[in-house]
Amino acid sequence: MAFKIAVLAGDGIGPEVTAEAVKVLRATGVECNFEDALIGGAAYDAKGHPLPKETLDLCKDADAVLLGAVGGPKYDAIQPIELRPEVGALLPLRRELNLYANVRPAKTLKALMMASPLKGERGLIDLVVMRELTGGIYFGQPRERRDNGNTAVDTCIYSKMEIERIAKRAFDIARQRRRMITSVDKANVLETSRLWREVVTAMAADNQDVKVEHMLVDNCAMQLVRDPQHFDVILTENMFGDILSDEASMITGSLGLLPSASLSDPKNGKVFGLYEPVHGSAPDIAGQGRANPIAAILSAAMMLRYSFDDNKKALRIEAAVDQALDSGIRTADIFEKASRLVSTKEMGDAIAERVAG
Ligand code: NAD
Repeated sequence: MAFKIAVLAGDGIGPEVTAEAVKVLRATGVECNFEDALIGGAAYDAKGHPLPKETLDLCKDADAVLLGAVGGPKYDAIQPIELRPEVGALLPLRRELNLYANVRPAKTLKALMMASPLKGERGLIDLVVMRELTGGIYFGQPRERRDNGNTAVDTCIYSKMEIERIAKRAFDIARQRRRMITSVDKANVLETSRLWREVVTAMAADNQDVKVEHMLVDNCAMQLVRDPQHFDVILTENMFGDILSDEASMITGSLGLLPSASLSDPKNGKVFGLYEPVHGSAPDIAGQGRANPIAAILSAAMMLRYSFDDNKKALRIEAAVDQALDSGIRTADIFEKASRLVSTKEMGDAIAERVAG
């Protein structure tokens, strides 16, 4: 049966890069039905709300969601703030779809190796940061000011259930990779981290086909620069993951090439997820055919790997991206001397042709 994919192109360069991701998915031959819906500023303009009910309903009914990007200067001053694209669309979408596992791969593309701030082979990395997305200090209550505003309180809370479900996703993903998890915490100081370590240790005993190590977050930040090739899957809580995933992604040299997935519990035997590039709507280059579609295309590859269990086709897309770059074509953001400048659509065409073989 065909997979149902909700396509939320959004604002700015969102529609341009999403169109190329859909093109590449079609080229794989995987049977998919694509259904478009409005989100972000585009939805606000048309329907008066950045996340209309019909968009949310479509997502709930789909096997996976492909998102472009939302937001832009035109929407920055909307009041109340709940009607702004990021606050009114992205956060409720993640909450409503229960997307608690954020997966951010950081893989250096060989043709762009020189862009890494780490010199030579050391900058060649292939790791995944698995970040818990709906708990921890970003969500814990109370969160307040006391003492006439002179004292601030945030609360970090994790339950065993929240740790178990993200750790389970990490074990699943490690099995599709090199079978090694580095669980990152601050167990020498924080109670939530001690629970985190207890739960992951217990799960490691039941999942012995995957090697598990524990690392303190400060050491992990250091090791990511000293020896990034050590890592396969980094499993961590919300705030540590926020910081470490940005650090890891910069080792690859370019934010504009990075895909991401946010996963929920399996639905009808399939892992439900939302797939989107890490970058935003880039209003400065929107509508000019200058956007790099690779992050969106690699997000589509993640969809095949994680939601549709088709690692082979995902690898095919990733190889096609490498081949297209090896042929010397570049969009403006990664242009270098001796390469050939192409548009968003030309880059998408070049990758889709190679996928179709
Ligand atoms: P941005 O990622 O949109 O852009 C940062 C810079 O990178 C810009 O110079 C842009 O031209 C460039 N860039 C980004 N993606 C590119 C691509 N695919 N190809 C070539 N160049 C690319 O970040 P920003 O400027 O801070 O934010 C712009 C808008 O996007 C804001 O409204 C912000 O809130 C929103 N945003 C949305 C998301 C999302 O939808 N998930 C994420 C981040 C930012």
